[in-house]
Amino acid sequence: MIIVLKREKTDVLEDVRRRLMRGGFQFSVLEGVKYIVVPVVGDLSAGDINRFRSINGVEKVLRVSSPYYLVTKECRTKSVVDVGGDVRIGEGFHFIAGPCSVESEESLERIAAFLVSKGVRLLRGGTYKMRSSPYSFQGLGEEGLRIMQQVARRHGMRSVSEIIDLRNLDVFLEHIDVIQVGARNMYNYALLREVGRSGKPVLLKRAPSARIEDFLLAAEYLLLEGNERVVLCERGSLTFDDAIRSAINMATIPMLKDVSHLPVVLDPSHGVGIARYIPAVSEAAVLLGADGVMLEVHFDPSNALSDGFQSIDFAQFSRLHERIGTILSSLGSSCA
Ligand code: PEP
Ligand code: MN
Repeated sequence: MIIVLKREKTDVLEDVRRRLMRGGFQFSVLEGVKYIVVPVVGDLSAGDINRFRSINGVEKVLRVSSPYYLVTKECRTKSVVDVGGDVRIGEGFHFIAGPCSVESEESLERIAAFLVSKGVRLLRGGTYKMRSSPYSFQGLGEEGLRIMQQVARRHGMRSVSEIIDLRNLDVFLEHIDVIQVGARNMYNYALLREVGRSGKPVLLKRAPSARIEDFLLAAEYLLLEGNERVVLCERGSLTFDDAIRSAINMATIPMLKDVSHLPVVLDPSHGVGIARYIPAVSEAAVLLGADGVMLEVHFDPSNALSDGFQSIDFAQFSRLHERIGTILSSLGSSCA
């Protein structure tokens, strides 16, 4: 931390000095022409930093180290997230695929049977939907969770579904293998804490307005509750441009992989929002070192109950899957 004071504030400097000595921090005092700069080293919490910030007469306080720790490579070099059933995210490349929403047992069965024939082990499906309009399809709720469980079990897949309300946690724990915390709930810290405490694997999506720091702090909440099975999912951010649903900063992938030990996947479906661009963006994610992609897949996108415009059909998925297989083998890697 670096504390900056105006040169004439010598009484404030004395106060700062006393507080730093009391806290056992190491510091020095550099007197410039206009400012006094006090670099401080030691184990400083966010609370300590804010206390110095609030001293009347302190010009500014700059934080030097990152505000999170458990998610970083300093804490651990690499995490492989075991989601059961011999599926480990962080080892090989994973496809997490399925419909935007679970629509019926028959339709999920058809999608899962196709995906499993391609070797996909993780089945996604929304059951409680966060729709912008209250008049849009809201999902099948608990019935959808039961369908996810049955279909996933039948095909030896692991299920992934988004929780939107803490009150549903028990039914998620009963039926679902990986709990998704969606973009709109990334800031729901009460939900993060409880999902963290549950110990279930979590797929955490970045909120469209979140900085990387906010995203990693949300993951820190999960780890702080003792849950180490966390997967980070980039899904794009909101910008001024509405030609493409969200702006995906693809550099986020290598950056998160560099800073954090957690696996990183990309969701180009919600990020791009236009089915025909999704294969190219998925391929780029492989080259950038992602641990997987989450894709919305439907046998008849034009009749899907939600997000049909961004769902790829079986033929598109087959081509994408094959091309990614080729890219992975050229990189000396493979699909998990
Ligand atoms: C989803 O994956 O079903 C979803 C709603 O995505 P996001 O939270 O990223 O908008
Ligand atoms: Mn969707």
